[in-house]
Amino acid sequence: MNRPALPTPDPARLAVLDEPALLAALHERVEDAWRLCREVHPGLPRPEVWCDLRGKCAGQAHFGRGGLRFNPLLYAENRLDFLVEVVPHEMAHWLIHHLEDGQLARPHGREWRTVMRRLFGLEPRTTHRFDTGRASPTPYRYACGCREHAFTARRHSLARRGRRYRCRHCMGDLVYGGRGGGGDTT
Ligand SMILES: [Zn+2]
Ligand SMILES: [Zn+2]
Repeated sequence: MNRPALPTPDPARLAVLDEPALLAALHERVEDAWRLCREVHPGLPRPEVWCDLRGKCAGQAHFGRGGLRFNPLLYAENRLDFLVEVVPHEMAHWLIHHLEDGQLARPHGREWRTVMRRLFGLEPRTTHRFDTGRASPTPYRYACGCREHAFTARRHSLARRGRRYRCRHCMGDLVYGGRGGGGDTT
């Protein structure tokens, strides 16, 4: 197994950071990841960074806007894993996109997995295991015969008190399946 190419942040130090310091740590990590990518692709532009993602997605490479978006709530709740995994994950998308023919590559295809393994020394994972309960407005998972449904806390409590909900596609009753677990890193 490879060793992570970027230094692992000190979790005790991360735990006590206030919001501005936390944001600075994220920018610093993006900078480190970007510098590492420049070693294999010196012309790689520096991505802008936004902390404006909500819901279950931890991060997103936004090529139209020219940068990386991150989920501030999931970051604050999962500081170490976020810096160690999510930042390289999105930076790997950023790198691939700027390689010749990179836009033809599948999002988590061979090229992306190779960058994660060989350059960042990380296991390429496409989903995170963060608890999205507070980050998602609809954390309660219900299922019918055909798909999964996401309920808000309000709908969930009505269902718990006996209100019946049906799927408008298969007309089956919706059955509670637990709280939403991890989401996509994207
Ligand atoms: Zn259904
Ligand atoms: Zn991804």
